[in-house]
Amino acid sequence: MTSHFFNIEMLPAKHGDALWIEYGTPDRTRRILIDGGPINAWPEVSSRLRQLPPGDQGVELLVISHVDTDHIEGLIRLMAEPQNRWPIAPEEIWFNGWRHIEEANTLGGREGEFLSALIHRRAFDLWNTSFDNKAVCTGKLPGDVVVLADGMKLTLVSPNAAALAKLKKDWEKSVDKWEIDPGDLDAAWDQLVEENKFHPGEDLTLGPADITDELQDLLKGRDSSTANGSSIGFLAEYEGKSCLLLADAHARVVCESLRNLGYTEDNPLKVDALKMAHHGSKNNITREMFELIDARHYLVSSNGDKFGHPDSEAIEAVIQGSRRKPTLWFNYRSDHNIAWKAESLKPDARFRTKYPAKGKSGIVVKL
Ligand SMILES: [Zn+2]
Repeated sequence: MTSHFFNIEMLPAKHGDALWIEYGTPDRTRRILIDGGPINAWPEVSSRLRQLPPGDQGVELLVISHVDTDHIEGLIRLMAEPQNRWPIAPEEIWFNGWRHIEEANTLGGREGEFLSALIHRRAFDLWNTSFDNKAVCTGKLPGDVVVLADGMKLTLVSPNAAALAKLKKDWEKSVDKWEIDPGDLDAAWDQLVEENKFHPGEDLTLGPADITDELQDLLKGRDSSTANGSSIGFLAEYEGKSCLLLADAHARVVCESLRNLGYTEDNPLKVDALKMAHHGSKNNITREMFELIDARHYLVSSNGDKFGHPDSEAIEAVIQGSRRKPTLWFNYRSDHNIAWKAESLKPDARFRTKYPAKGKSGIVVKL
């Protein structure tokens, strides 16, 4: 009998996301990478990617869930190198850029233009191929299903067309400040070559302080929730094991998709694991989610920097709302999550916790 595995590694992506998924059999490992964390996490994230054996660097799918810097910057850095120097060899790349919003009449920001310019020059043939090179969006494929090599089934639950449409305005506003026309990849490229922090061979700590401040201001100036709302989120199923991977998706969009897929309060989606949306923010979780999703493992990616994620309200919601005794998985030990360790060890605890070993970061969830 062949033993199949499906492992999700939450890489140490600071306050962001970088999820490394491996599935397959002992003879053949398949891989999916979702997001690349912020630029200051890239040295650690990329060192994991560089552990792949030479000659076996294939990745079935690279997903850039949405344009926020804590998900996208590391991958801008990756793609700043010519494709033959990337530590991974993706078969397909999912990313919704301006050209997709235009077509779908539906997306944001300067980093989005940078990444678009890079994919355009480095890997155009791999871009959203399962969606006929158009936007990754629910309602476009039969059953919203994409099947990867060896039967990994992905069912898209976010974004929907409305969430992408909302991002369009913010994208226009955002790039306007930087004097780039939306979709003008040559102009984006010209600015990118001025941005040392994304350049191969440069110091990979945070870029010059003034630029970082400008970027911060830019992000604060727009409604970040529209970017989160455009997140690519999906259910991944393989050999009877499953995980719902929500990036920073909005609860409303996810619930609407689950209902469209036929799930109800009486017939909830039963999954092994749920990667909590938006690093365990209280703004991305609702009672309805627990009505429609029956999960056992809850994954939280964040070191707690910047926004103090996860929110205690969201973790409490899991402890109270989960239909099965939940296990909480954290990829860091931080002031914002460590309190639940002692709680989980009490005799009457209704949940379990998993943390990296002391002094370590990143954690592997084996489904
Ligand atoms: Zn995020």
